[in-house]
Amino acid sequence: MEHRPRKQFAQHWLKSDKALNQIVQAAEITQCDRILEIGPGTGILTRRLLPLAQSVVAVEIDRDLCQLLAKQLGKTENFLLLQGDILSLDLASQLTPFPAFHNPNKVVANIPYNITGPILEKLLGTITNPATEPFDSIVLLVQKEVAERLYAQPSSRAFGALSVRVQYLAECELISLVPAGAFHPPPKVDSAVVRLRPRKLSPAANDPRRLETLVNLGFAAKRKMLRNNLKSIVDRDRLTQLLEQLEVNPQARAEDLSVAQWVALSNTLRVRVGEAGEAGEARV
Ligand code: SAH
Repeated sequence: MEHRPRKQFAQHWLKSDKALNQIVQAAEITQCDRILEIGPGTGILTRRLLPLAQSVVAVEIDRDLCQLLAKQLGKTENFLLLQGDILSLDLASQLTPFPAFHNPNKVVANIPYNITGPILEKLLGTITNPATEPFDSIVLLVQKEVAERLYAQPSSRAFGALSVRVQYLAECELISLVPAGAFHPPPKVDSAVVRLRPRKLSPAANDPRRLETLVNLGFAAKRKMLRNNLKSIVDRDRLTQLLEQLEVNPQARAEDLSVAQWVALSNTLRVRVGEAGEAGEARV
């Protein structure tokens, strides 16, 4: 049975052996690993994971693909297929009847790019609500521009709010670039394999809501100096003083602060700022 790739579900089958090898190697799979795959599609990556891992649970939204996969891989003992939307599915409760697949410790996936942000949130949590049982590692194919933001260093063009939000929760590395031609049909963008390793928050924000608000407001107008973007919640002179204490140039833009400096800034401000950063609620 031939399955025509569906645009609606961002279906682009990976066909490059080289890229598949890079993904699998980056995941450093052992026989103890219980893997979560998002969007197995026709199972090209799944087939590589199964012989290496203890188990693979795959979540696929497309019913027709699920039928196809069930036919082809249904008898494989260490494989479990769940039909559903990864974003709304409650994985832990879906896995309750299947003890061998409980608590997957790694994620390996060529994900649908149209929901990359929400998938990252689902896997890592957020600044205010980090995942309570983080994965050991998460290896994903993503759009190249998103990858660049994930592993960007401070003061580089790609370093933005997403970089701070994700890097606060996980170490991010570029594994390799993957050209559009590695897929069928080729997407409009190039891709990259990234590896995220969730880590202990260090230093941790003592008020995560405040950190989130600062990051949202700080990056709101990227060209502006940080002290202008934050003037509704932090007095200019006070901020200048704090930035000097943190050895940051008072004229810095949001992109010039490292994740540690964002956390330090947040921890140095004593007064709680309003949710979503409403102006003037609490000046410090
Ligand atoms: N891993 C396969 C397919 C990648 S394409 C390969 O490398 O060839 C993305 C896959 O994600 C498709 O199979 C698509 O149907 C699936 N998908 C799209 N949205 C999804 C969602 N919300 N939840 C789960 N799977 C989804």
